[in-house]
Amino acid sequence: MRFAVFLILVSACTGFGQKAARTIAVTIDDLPVVSTRRDLNNRIEITKKLVSHIKKAKMPAIGFVNENKLYSGSVREEKQVDLLRMWVDAGLELGNHTYSHRSLNAIPLAEYQADLLKGEAVTRELLGRKGKKLRFFRHPFLQTGRSMEVKAQFDTFLKQHGYTVAPITFDNADYIFSRAYDIAFDKGDPELMKKVGEAYVPYMESKLEYWERQSMKLLGREMSQTLLIHANFINSDYLDDLAAMFKRRGYKIVSLAESLKDEAYQLPDTYVGPAGISWLHRWARDKGWEFIVPDEPKVPGFVLKLSGFESE
Ligand SMILES: [Zn+2]
Repeated sequence: MRFAVFLILVSACTGFGQKAARTIAVTIDDLPVVSTRRDLNNRIEITKKLVSHIKKAKMPAIGFVNENKLYSGSVREEKQVDLLRMWVDAGLELGNHTYSHRSLNAIPLAEYQADLLKGEAVTRELLGRKGKKLRFFRHPFLQTGRSMEVKAQFDTFLKQHGYTVAPITFDNADYIFSRAYDIAFDKGDPELMKKVGEAYVPYMESKLEYWERQSMKLLGREMSQTLLIHANFINSDYLDDLAAMFKRRGYKIVSLAESLKDEAYQLPDTYVGPAGISWLHRWARDKGWEFIVPDEPKVPGFVLKLSGFESE
């Protein structure tokens, strides 16, 4: 009895026995904007809304840039660069997502590396003005090379240029929802936009719950998650709601650097298949197919159909 009282006291004083907070890093790809709404005013509006959601939720988010979107032919467009300035002026970090978003699985390594270096000029300049360094790299399509030889050579190249790979665990199809949302907008159909938007956050929550289970199955614990979403139209309207959902599930949003301190990220990535998949699935495949949690949630049929994508 005395021992039980002692334990309760220790627990009350130290928080012993309390469940640690879940953590998640928010990474946003294809900056400045990826949308069928290509005119500058829409790009400004999407960027403003994204950045304001990020600031409101105090997310230390990172944006991965494709610098080809900043040029018209060979001319640098300052109004496009201004979109990135909104991110850095909000204190946010930027990373490299290559210049033109090609796949390492599709082009020779030398060409891919040249495209990566071409894609760092403006980002490095903007970060430098804030006293920050360019330090993270995200593979387009999450395609990381079709052989261990290419992967090893590319890893060496990244190290030589001061980059850390930005893996992701919380994979999802936000881009399919956003394409459907763009199409509903182009049709002038706000009801349909709302229908897509209202299906988005529940879908993302079901995905997150899936990745929590996948982490438990593989590691016996919930690791720090890394979310990948895109700088798109639907997130400019719903990132707020996503942040609220994370909070409701007990998540603290942390920086990518902080999330990567979880030792699970030290597990090797030996995946050489064609797909762009979550690092949780890469590690689970290494351990054995039985470690892949079945029944991964799918995009609802009406969203997939509207988007024009044939499958996820
Ligand atoms: Zn991308």
